[in-house]
Amino acid sequence: MSQVVTRFAPSPTGYLHIGGARTALFSWAFAKHSGGKMLLRIEDTDRERSTEAAVVALIDGLTWLGLDWEGEPISQFERAPRHAEVAHELVKMGHAYYCYCSPEELDKMREDARAAGKPPRYNGYWRDRDVSEAPEGVKPVVRIKAPLSGEIVVKDHVQGDVVFKTENLDDFIILRSDGTPTYMHAVVVDDHDMGVTHIIRGDDHLTNAARQIIIYNAMGWTVPEMAHIPLIHGPDGAKLSKRHGALGAEQYRQMGYLPAAMRNYLSRLGWSHGDEEIFSTEQMVEWFSLEALNKGAARFDFDKLANINGIYIRAAEPAYLYEVMVATALETGRTEDHAGLVANHNSVLAALPELQPRAKTVLELIDLAQFIYATRPITPDSAAAALLTPENREMLKSVADTIGGLADWSVPEIDAVMRKLAEEKGLKLGKLAQPLRAALTGRTVSPGIFEVMVLIGREESMARLGDVTVN
Ligand code: GLU
Repeated sequence: MSQVVTRFAPSPTGYLHIGGARTALFSWAFAKHSGGKMLLRIEDTDRERSTEAAVVALIDGLTWLGLDWEGEPISQFERAPRHAEVAHELVKMGHAYYCYCSPEELDKMREDARAAGKPPRYNGYWRDRDVSEAPEGVKPVVRIKAPLSGEIVVKDHVQGDVVFKTENLDDFIILRSDGTPTYMHAVVVDDHDMGVTHIIRGDDHLTNAARQIIIYNAMGWTVPEMAHIPLIHGPDGAKLSKRHGALGAEQYRQMGYLPAAMRNYLSRLGWSHGDEEIFSTEQMVEWFSLEALNKGAARFDFDKLANINGIYIRAAEPAYLYEVMVATALETGRTEDHAGLVANHNSVLAALPELQPRAKTVLELIDLAQFIYATRPITPDSAAAALLTPENREMLKSVADTIGGLADWSVPEIDAVMRKLAEEKGLKLGKLAQPLRAALTGRTVSPGIFEVMVLIGREESMARLGDVTVN
């Protein structure tokens, strides 16, 4: 078999949304699995709605997700002359024809059809008419000659054989009167010229596939293999809403999801390999097959994504996470966090193994790291503030007295004296540790509090304790 060529063909009218990201992932994974390549085609023929900013966002989203394509992105718009050439060739071959109907005539045609109880569609008026009958000064459109009887079968790797009766497919336009191609036609010419062997896309394109096959057949071109994947629904089974995850790739990045976790999670939306839930991208590529794509609609579930992300955060290298934290703080406008992270590179790196098991997103990691660079006096959150009662502040004074003179500022030393102090006071260690945590971090969740003290150092620890004990 020839080399597998897939393509991702987004329209640059918005960001790379989650459904598009999944289509790209599957096209990419299938190409990699088969030792082939994925191409990127920007479907920018709609000049009103296509923007350069959207092209940038699409490329940025794909790059962030680590989905690469071969060669330069192809602009569909720039290929318009080729689309026109094929349309005229089809006319010459007798598989398409010029249609001179005016909008009024087409309206009437639809009305007549409706009145006769038929679906409103083009009645083939110019199909067999000679161009000598053409009205003067009218620029024609080009229409394909759809088969008059029989069926078109879309042989689909996900949907099976989907049969379309040709009586439901009229002679649709392939070239407009201004010489620009319709979407239906441009897709076919491009996929053919790009050597695409496998088309993987959303099942909202299934009826388009039937029409596209008419063009392939008319040109005598091989129809690519097709896989139309069910759309992604919300957790309630309804159309995916923004609240339920219909967001752009960059928004997931800004919410603190890791690209590897996104790939893992997205792959499970409509594809499966046994009961496997957590697997590397390499494994996914190795296992990927079109036959394992699911026919039922997938449901997007934020909690599941967050859980998977947490697993990836736990397993990640601190050095990598540090870079992601810095970049995320910058991108989301957290300037104080950004400055704090940059200025405390070593302490953040050292703290990360303690923070990783406690966070499901990079934003949570940043929150957890804030104790390292918090500026004094620390403003406690409400839960921490509740712990800083007058009695507890009094107790923290004795903590400060006890640890202030330690010869060795290390976790075992601090641990030992704190245990002793708790014993003397007849308290559980936690009763000392929680107010201490509130004083030192302003929070009730942090890494082990003695580790925190070593991370921020003796001077800073004593200063923070002083802030809550000296009134
Ligand atoms: N541009 C189309 C879209 O964004 C995809 C067309 C195709 O995959 O054939 O929905």
